[in-house]
Amino acid sequence: MRTFISFEEARAIVLSSATTTRTESVAFENAIGRTLREDVLSTEPIPGFDNSAMDGYAVRFEDCVSGPVTLKVVSDIPAGINPGVLVGPGQAARIMTGAPLPAGADSIVPIEKTNSKDRTEVHIGEAPRSGAHVRYAGEELKAGDTVMRSGIVLTPPAIGMLASVGKILVDVACKPRLAIISTGDEVIPADERPVLGQLRNSNGPSLAAQAVSAGADVTVTKHLPDDPAAIRSFVQSIKNVDLLVFSGGVSMGEYDYVRTELDAMGAVWEFWKVKQRPGKPLAFGTLDGIPVLGLPGNPVSSSVCFEMYARPMIAAMSGRDNPLRITIQATLRRDIPKVERLYTFARGNLSTDPETGLTMVDTTGNQASGMFTSMVDADCIIHLPDGLKSAEAGSKVTVELLSWSLS
Ligand code: AMP
Ligand code: MG
Repeated sequence: MRTFISFEEARAIVLSSATTTRTESVAFENAIGRTLREDVLSTEPIPGFDNSAMDGYAVRFEDCVSGPVTLKVVSDIPAGINPGVLVGPGQAARIMTGAPLPAGADSIVPIEKTNSKDRTEVHIGEAPRSGAHVRYAGEELKAGDTVMRSGIVLTPPAIGMLASVGKILVDVACKPRLAIISTGDEVIPADERPVLGQLRNSNGPSLAAQAVSAGADVTVTKHLPDDPAAIRSFVQSIKNVDLLVFSGGVSMGEYDYVRTELDAMGAVWEFWKVKQRPGKPLAFGTLDGIPVLGLPGNPVSSSVCFEMYARPMIAAMSGRDNPLRITIQATLRRDIPKVERLYTFARGNLSTDPETGLTMVDTTGNQASGMFTSMVDADCIIHLPDGLKSAEAGSKVTVELLSWSLS
């Protein structure tokens, strides 16, 4: 087992152990937030036929090109109707947005650029551009074009596009199944009143919610006392999960039994302790081939470590193209205290400076790892790498956006 490794090494180890889940076929309406696991092709051209992009008149360009002209209106074409009409020389058809372009016509003159004394004729003052306001068949997609590639997350517009191309059933990644196990004799359920020495279990519910927002299925949630036998017997009872996440019990304390009990059960630890703050005592290994993350119990540590390690693992297991969240550069508003040898994840808030237009970032107050408010108030994580001596106001830093949606 390696110890006190860098954040980059730790994340690479964790990600390399993420094997992709199976796929399942779901109805496209239910696929929001799921990771696509097939290339989706358009079997038909989109649009399916030449049609009008405006309410107006379908005309022959050559009739209008030599100056103002009055055309005979030979048809009315609402959307959804097969025009079945030929627009001959000197003729036009009244047409609505989305209606098929009638044979003979090649351009659309919007209604506001026309005059019409009665419904039988229309006056065109200014010639349209040839092909004006016509949406051509296959202009967006040709039959056989790839619409979406395997590995993307299905967004609301993607659901609409699946509908457009008639892709009713779609192959997506099975959601990785997670067990979230919190530990600690002092930790009580949220609906109980703590006595001296106790506190309510915040990590369990927070981690479970984080897992759901990362696209996982939380199939096991449990709180366990600091009791070796209880830990062992419960872990032995867990079946069919893709990732085991523990909170607490992985530090150096006398009652930190998670690592030792999993050891006794044959766990193979890849690393324990990472050069990072918060979350130094992070442990990672496998038990019977299933990855196990041992998160430190301090609420900020457990929450930040989940975001830095478990979330990208879930994305990688789902076969996502890029398992990491987007980062941007921002300018620090104030100094952040920094220990040179530790990669620091400060919790921050982004804003735009009204005078300079620069994207600024500031911390969310007290950054102690027991202060969960620093996480609750954050909209981003400020990455301050190890080796960096100081983080001073005015310097540029990398910021990871804490979008909590299914992405
Ligand atoms: P541990 O990693 O078990 O030594 O715990 C470190 C700190 O986190 C202690 O102050 C614990 O009381 C606290 N803690 C551990 N588990 C939880 C939990 N599930 N919810 C809230 N706080 C916790
Ligand atoms: Mg504990």
